Amino acid sequence: MRRPSPPGRNSAAGGRAPRPRDAQPEQLGFEGMPERLFVCTPSKLGAFEDCPRRYRYAYVDRPAPPKGPPWAHNSLGASVHTALKNWYALPVDRRRPEVLPTLLKGTWVREGYRDDEQERAAYRRALGWLEAYVDGLDPADEPVGVERVVAVKTGVLAFNGRTDRIDSRPGEQGSELVIVDYKTGRTGLDADDARGSQALALYAYAAERVFRRPCRRVELHHLPTGTVAGHDHTTDSLARHLSRAEGAARDIMAAEREVADGADPDAAFPTAPGPRCGWCDYRRACPAGAQAPGKEPWAAVERLAEPAAGEG
Ligand code: SF4
Repeated sequence: MRRPSPPGRNSAAGGRAPRPRDAQPEQLGFEGMPERLFVCTPSKLGAFEDCPRRYRYAYVDRPAPPKGPPWAHNSLGASVHTALKNWYALPVDRRRPEVLPTLLKGTWVREGYRDDEQERAAYRRALGWLEAYVDGLDPADEPVGVERVVAVKTGVLAFNGRTDRIDSRPGEQGSELVIVDYKTGRTGLDADDARGSQALALYAYAAERVFRRPCRRVELHHLPTGTVAGHDHTTDSLARHLSRAEGAARDIMAAEREVADGADPDAAFPTAPGPRCGWCDYRRACPAGAQAPGKEPWAAVERLAEPAAGEG
């Protein structure tokens, strides 16, 4: 949610996937023994799908290898998310643009910036995004949830995740839920990003069951450009995302079992080197990542100040 996601994670390829099973606490294993569910968040699944070794460093190795320094873009994203959360926590008559500087300053995260000047510029930019964003909101609109955790169990997964916002809007089936995710990275997002986001699809699948109301629309709200990229899921498209998530969960559990049975952890959780290595928290601990040039903690924030491709 808060970090720019490396490109390349899309909806499941291939044919039509089986529909998800109804929520159930556990599934019977091959020999009639109950198998444990894989407890996961979108970040946990995403870490494995991006790079199994990164997953191992973050979730398996104990003690975990030391992470690199904090990223300024994560600080910026967290600050903006918290300001919006606190904006909705205010009574309706206080949800006004004038409160934004206080809200943003109050929970501003300072880590990762190159210097005070860069941090101040980032603060001004973030305040501008927030002012433009709330200008387009109706303060009287009360979301169904703000930073609300939704959870669901399937035959394989015990999924939980924190949504940025869940809206309620009129739809064909009456009042319907919409998953809203705030984005603060440099580049804009399009409908393919919304369609391909496994996290958004799993939030929608879970929210529909938690609230017992239809939830098919997912939206990425890109604050720097003020644009919204949305997608309307179907039962089948949500099932495909869920099936892919369950497949990843099975792969993770199989790799963990192999290690428990004595396999080489490096082989069970291979590296997947690529451009994302420069942004990986575990680059210094990873033999493949150590070959990749690292990014300065403020590099992504510095790029926010540059014109994006195609801009004047
Ligand atoms: S540095 Fe690259 S290969 Fe190593 S764990 Fe991170 S993403 Fe994976």
